[in-house]
Amino acid sequence: MPEKGDSVLERVRCNLCGADDTAPVTEIDGFHIVRCRQCGLIYVNPRYREELLQRIYTETYYDHDGIQNGLEFFGYDNYLEDEENIRITFAKRLKTIERYATKGKLLDIGCATGFFLDLAKSRGWEVVGSEVSEFSVRYAREKLGLDVRLGTLRDLQFDAQSFDVITMWDVIEHVPDPIGELQEVRRILRDGGLLSIITPDVGSLVARFLGSRWEEFRRVREHVYFFSRRTMTEALRKVGFEVLRIEHADKVFCLGPAMHRLKYYTWDGMLTNTATRWVYKLGLDKIRININPFTKMTVYARKQK
Ligand SMILES: [Zn+2]
Repeated sequence: MPEKGDSVLERVRCNLCGADDTAPVTEIDGFHIVRCRQCGLIYVNPRYREELLQRIYTETYYDHDGIQNGLEFFGYDNYLEDEENIRITFAKRLKTIERYATKGKLLDIGCATGFFLDLAKSRGWEVVGSEVSEFSVRYAREKLGLDVRLGTLRDLQFDAQSFDVITMWDVIEHVPDPIGELQEVRRILRDGGLLSIITPDVGSLVARFLGSRWEEFRRVREHVYFFSRRTMTEALRKVGFEVLRIEHADKVFCLGPAMHRLKYYTWDGMLTNTATRWVYKLGLDKIRININPFTKMTVYARKQK
């Protein structure tokens, strides 16, 4: 990412209510996270321009140690190595989706390497993915033989009412215009169709307790909007969705990598590192655990006519 400066940054109004009236929440690496005084939406302002926001998602995004070109951001530690855990997590989510929707055509926005699509396809769904990372699109097409399109949702212009289910996991916090994105989702989803969103919950106890140490805030270069249950519900209502259910998202991890991540949340890094070393030494690192950090929300919403 380029150095900060007027030419690469832009100031934006509140995406949810259009006001330009904010109070500071926190500051991370010179980026200001603010809260709209009118509606409560939390966002980064000013932030990187749209075209720069998209440049992050290269191959290294899915496999790196959190540092690129000397600038710290996060991405995923090692997405491909974590495949099996990711698939277990996705299988649980698909089960919930199947409770609310009849099998048909499914679009996964920001599908990454396509693991969820692959799983849904094996269970009889007709699947399409969209993704802005060229590396991921190539992987999904070549290794998994999936129909994954390169580009933003707006670029791709899917037909109106062409999907029964749309999933948008760990995506909406990255997009420059979430309300516009939800309107586009609504257009391409059939009436009564199901939308599932996963995004950090800025109203969660963890977020409030950790403040500027919260990992989701620290990804300030890639995360530009932070929804709470309330602002997410309001955004969906405004665009024409009825929220069916909101829950905290859990995820299956191996103990080793989970310990690695713990260092972002703890004050005593030494203690955590020692504990992590012991986990590996004792061969416990591959033990599978289901963690619910109560920091992300999973939303299920139905398109209203
Ligand atoms: Zn607002």
